[in-house]
Amino acid sequence: MGLKRYHAIRDFRLSPEPKGTATHRAVKHFVIQKHAARHLHYDFRLESNGVLLSWAVPKGLPLKRGERRLAVHVEDHPVAYENFEGIIPAGNYGGGTVMVWDLGTYEPAGNMRAMMKKGHIDFILHGKKLRGAWTLVRAKGLEGKDPWLILKRGEDHRPLSARQEDRSALSGRTMAQIGTQRDAVWSSSGKSRPKFVNPPRSALPAELKGLP
Ligand code: MN
Repeated sequence: MGLKRYHAIRDFRLSPEPKGTATHRAVKHFVIQKHAARHLHYDFRLESNGVLLSWAVPKGLPLKRGERRLAVHVEDHPVAYENFEGIIPAGNYGGGTVMVWDLGTYEPAGNMRAMMKKGHIDFILHGKKLRGAWTLVRAKGLEGKDPWLILKRGEDHRPLSARQEDRSALSGRTMAQIGTQRDAVWSSSGKSRPKFVNPPRSALPAELKGLP
């Protein structure tokens, strides 16, 4: 898919989201962003061929074996998006608070392009919160949408605590803290980019500092 659509539907003078370019890396990451937009949802992203393949998952990833959830395939995002946490100003595409809810590496069960084409992707997540096997399968398309299902494979995942549910895997902040941070508040002073500061590398959890 590439980043054409990602770039076309955003105004980077108004949104602090990274513009980004295709970036090829040896170790493949995944990220799940909790996104309090018009409707709260989780954005599930798998790095592949220089971009983040992306699905909007209204209820988040299932934790019980066999449980399935809707996952709507959306536009590819740049790899740099994995560190994006902050506020997309109201009125912009996806306006609302974004938390890096989980991140880590993943292992695809085969060639990603081939699995994507087939509409069946088996993978294992090695995240800070989520670890284990899941599957994405393409469902029948509704008009203009590309719905998939994400289902838990292998064993049940242990339930997450309320604290884990509302803490960033990147900064440890809650949704409320991210939503009220002063460094991401956009001030409409002409064409200047909104002031947005990513958490410093030193703020990353120890096990993620070594990741490329
Ligand atoms: Mn979203």
